[in-house]
Amino acid sequence: DLKGKTAIITGSTSGIGLQFAHGLASKGVNIMLNGFGDAGEIETARKEIEEQYGVKAAYNGADMTKPDQIAELIKETKSAFGSLDILINNAGIQKVSPIEDFPDDKWDAIIAINLSSSFHTIKHAVPIMKQQGSGRIINLASVHGLVASPYKSAYVAAKHGVIGLTKTVALEVAEHGITCNAICPGYVETPLVQNQIADTAKARGMTEEEVKNNVMLEAQPSKEFITYAQLNGLLFYLCSDAGGGANGASFNIDGGWVAK
Ligand code: NAD
Repeated sequence: DLKGKTAIITGSTSGIGLQFAHGLASKGVNIMLNGFGDAGEIETARKEIEEQYGVKAAYNGADMTKPDQIAELIKETKSAFGSLDILINNAGIQKVSPIEDFPDDKWDAIIAINLSSSFHTIKHAVPIMKQQGSGRIINLASVHGLVASPYKSAYVAAKHGVIGLTKTVALEVAEHGITCNAICPGYVETPLVQNQIADTAKARGMTEEEVKNNVMLEAQPSKEFITYAQLNGLLFYLCSDAGGGANGASFNIDGGWVAK
């Protein structure tokens, strides 16, 4: 029963993170939202969650490239809601480019947001969770944490790193009622994916329609994008008492991609 628990979801103003916020709120979890975007739209999304599910929702715009802002996000969540039960490291960006042209600043930003931010959130969340004697840490990796695709050097490196971090943290928290696992989705049709369709088309010399059908869904044997409901199903399991046995694991929800 998740009612009355508290979750932080980084990068929850869009895509998967926002749908995770709705999913957990529907189970009675209070939500700390985070991410970039238009202030008015974020406030509307925050209010909608409170009104739709009768939970408390707050927003902290910590930049995941700034360790001091991340520390403050964790501190503020604990003081606003009284506990920190679920930490979801979801914020992420993508850049598709051949390595010889890959911009240095994009490499640094992807490593910071997609990998290092999880180190910083976990570092500050673990003492709180240890004190509670319970907690769930869920890291959004990707199938690109398990296998590679060309032109995504920074993303694939960061996501493989996330899986290593997940395993290490799992070992450190295992005796404290805390688990740390990774979710590895295949393609989900979020704004992040919609944006990379254009980049991939350029890198591969294809039309956007060809990228969608011949590159993205070509990798996914189901030939369908992964849905938010499918991801939320795994999230609920990992957050539940029944999920307590899973630790340090990577769960690919990928329509069969990694089986090939
Ligand atoms: P999205 O672009 O829709 O959302 C990304 C979120 O991260 C946004 O809320 C954005 O504001 C936030 N963000 C970006 N930079 C930030 C920063 N510096 N500080 C704080 N927040 C920041 O993307 P999405 O597709 O929903 O991706 C969410 C996660 O899922 C990412 O980690 C991504 O790598 C992973 N993932 C996505 C897919 C997919 O197909 N969409 C597949 C596998 C893994």
